[in-house]
Amino acid sequence: MMDPNSLTSKPLPRLTPDNTPFWEACRRHELVLPWCAACDRPHWPPGPVCPFCFGSPVGWRRASGRGRISSWVVVHKEWLPAFRNDLPYNAVQVELDEGVRLTGNVVGVPNEALKVGLPVEVVFDDVTETATLPRFRPVGTQAEPATKDA
Ligand SMILES: [Zn+2]
Repeated sequence: MMDPNSLTSKPLPRLTPDNTPFWEACRRHELVLPWCAACDRPHWPPGPVCPFCFGSPVGWRRASGRGRISSWVVVHKEWLPAFRNDLPYNAVQVELDEGVRLTGNVVGVPNEALKVGLPVEVVFDDVTETATLPRFRPVGTQAEPATKDA
């Protein structure tokens, strides 16, 4: 059993009343976004009210899962021992077609090939029996995440 608070275990999503629908959808391999019924806009991160119009309630809608890299870094430093075997690994920000930006990793592409504007699509990584992380792969590939800590 993985201890999510241990430095030797990778951190897992911390569920809150606001983000639980997102993580439950990931378990079903669906990407959903909080969507304001009042102004008809998605936003991120999830919260009890819309950050644009302060309206509520906020519902959830299925997202396309497609977007483009808007920023990226390659991590070479061992910030946590749990990530030692992954070095160097990438961390990216993806601007989804819906306009919100999610943070994650890109799989199936060498870090040297990362660039702003690269079209990507979501792929789901069942890292534990109860947690699934959304990651991204270049559009047009069938790359699957290679979970190293499952
Ligand atoms: Zn709104």
